[in-house]
Amino acid sequence: MEMLKKYTSIVNNEPVSGTKAVPCINPSTGKSVADIYVGGTDTVDAAVTAARAAFSSFRKTPRAERAKLLRAMADRMEENIDLLAAAECIDTGKTIGEAHLHMHFCIDVYRYFAAAIEAKEEVAIAHDSGTISYVVREPLGVAGLIVAWNCPPMLLSWKLAPALAMGNCVVIKPSITAVAGVCELFRVWKDLLPPGVVNIVLGSGSEIGDYFTAHPGINKLSFTGSVEVGRTIGAAAGKRIVPCTLELGGKSASVIFEDADLDRALQKTCIGILSSAGEVCVANSRILVQDTIYDKFLSMLKEKFEGAKVGDAMDPASQIGPVIDEKQMNKVLDYIEAGKAEGATLVCGGYRVTDNGCADGYFIAPTIFGDVKHGMKIEQEEIFGPVLCVMKFHDEDEALAIANGTEYGLGAAVWTKDIYRAMRFGQELEAGIVWINDYLDTGVGQPFGGYKSSGLGREVNKIALEHYSQVKNICIATDQSVPPVW
Ligand code: NAD
Repeated sequence: MEMLKKYTSIVNNEPVSGTKAVPCINPSTGKSVADIYVGGTDTVDAAVTAARAAFSSFRKTPRAERAKLLRAMADRMEENIDLLAAAECIDTGKTIGEAHLHMHFCIDVYRYFAAAIEAKEEVAIAHDSGTISYVVREPLGVAGLIVAWNCPPMLLSWKLAPALAMGNCVVIKPSITAVAGVCELFRVWKDLLPPGVVNIVLGSGSEIGDYFTAHPGINKLSFTGSVEVGRTIGAAAGKRIVPCTLELGGKSASVIFEDADLDRALQKTCIGILSSAGEVCVANSRILVQDTIYDKFLSMLKEKFEGAKVGDAMDPASQIGPVIDEKQMNKVLDYIEAGKAEGATLVCGGYRVTDNGCADGYFIAPTIFGDVKHGMKIEQEEIFGPVLCVMKFHDEDEALAIANGTEYGLGAAVWTKDIYRAMRFGQELEAGIVWINDYLDTGVGQPFGGYKSSGLGREVNKIALEHYSQVKNICIATDQSVPPVW
């Protein structure tokens, strides 16, 4: 199957013609591969109405049937994995190998939540007072799922699978910067989904975002994106008193002690910052290296970064693809200028790549800044590009203060062969995911989410079933006698 040439909003399983068309750009070539027909507030209304109508019956579907649906969705993805991976690669600039890995992760997510809903048990409580109560979890209604552009199918799957498992219907709003992956997913699922259960609205956050989040027909907001927009979404949810899950940005630190396995730390550090050209929320963008091994590890990093092959994301030989678009490329280049102006040492990279067929795409050379000081702009703000900040520390206390010294708390790592230090240090790191002698290894069942400004709630684990349901306590009298009140 070829990728579509036209992407539209989807309501009741049918395409909705939009008000205007914008190009869907392949960031490796800078060329348009399809037209995106953008919807307006009337499309949001239609999608929410369709989801509400579908909810009245979907909420009553037996959980075995919902589990079957999730497994069928996973199977369909597996059958179409080459199309889906290519769409993700062309849509976001992820290398084709990485796009395949992401699709396998997505497939696992649907199977995991199928099993989780089948295995879910409700609770009954026998009271001394002659009543028994049982506790059930009921779906919330219509969930509004808003996702960022960096890996849309995966970010969506983390929300969609638990939402459907619990019997909710959804309206999805992908980022207008990357819609192809989500629309191609819907295409392969279309005949499996009852109309109205999954709807998609294509439109920019600035044009329809506020209308979407304030919509009275939406009972739950689940968002993945920046802290800045996350605050807006959280405020909108608070205003309407609807539950809200937020998966936000990061500035994650890996702390490398002198006794670490440096070869392994090197490999994992490179994967942690250069996967998806650094456009990963949990990228280890700050590397803290003990002063005794700082020079050695920095030169190991430099050699590895300079050897990475930058090129078209569809070429299996490419190790680093482009960033998503021209705007993001310029943002990253501005951060590189800021790092130089702040006095950090540019160790390698720091420029747009235009050779090796990259002239029309948005490629940035893998970049390292050394001698980065705590508090610098490049050390505190999320760059979201292939830019690594390397810092020196002397002892554990200093390392911990730096590692925890940002507003973020998504991921962190400690590298040491001293098990006591690893445990002690790992427990003090303020992050939702702490790796010990590892980085970026995640799979289904491992709760994903942030401390501090990095978010609220957890995904990829059965905890997420609770984010898409509400508790009902049903009390039953077991004693028929009439109590003597007056
Ligand atoms: P963004 O916050 O600009 O946009 C995210 C989504 O929100 C898009 O769909 C956008 O259209 C929409 N949006 C924008 N304004 C809105 C509004 N007022 N109301 C409703 N929706 C609105 O983020 P981005 O630039 O697309 O993505 C990059 C960010 O996402 C980074 O900060 C990254 O760390 C974060 N991210 C986090 C995770 C995680 O799991 N924690 C995963 C991936 C990306």
